[in-house]
Amino acid sequence: MATIFTKIVNGEIPCYKIAENDRFFSFLDINPVSKGHTLVIPKMETDYLFDLGDVDLCELMVFAKSVARAIDKSLSPMRTGVLVDGREVPHAHVHLIPIYSGRQKTALGEKLEVSKEEMARLADQIGNAWEPPL
Ligand code: AMP
Repeated sequence: MATIFTKIVNGEIPCYKIAENDRFFSFLDINPVSKGHTLVIPKMETDYLFDLGDVDLCELMVFAKSVARAIDKSLSPMRTGVLVDGREVPHAHVHLIPIYSGRQKTALGEKLEVSKEEMARLADQIGNAWEPPL
């Protein structure tokens, strides 16, 4: 059965999309720990990130870098943090978490209320700042 993230890639489940190429896809986390919390996934279904082949893993991170740059440019956090967990959704993914202050908590349990309108606005802002990796 397809993972929830494959259903998002296929347009069967809505998302706040940020960026896509033929192999990777990026969208806002629906339960953000900070404004602009983004997920980056390979379109290919693999549960455990470190089961990806070396080239796929490297290219995923290069794609994640391009999205992190777009977050930095559009939302101006201090920096964008990277987190990998994977216990909830069995489809490899990288969390990109904008960090706005020295005291900000970045653990995945730290849920923030963000309205649908603001989620849409954040996805537009990041998406408009995104430039594909070379
Ligand atoms: P984890 O597998 O522990 O790395 O966490 C999976 C993440 O995916 C969580 O932060 C969820 O909020 C997020 N998530 C689950 N379903 C969706 C969805 N339909 N759209 C966006 N994010 C989701």
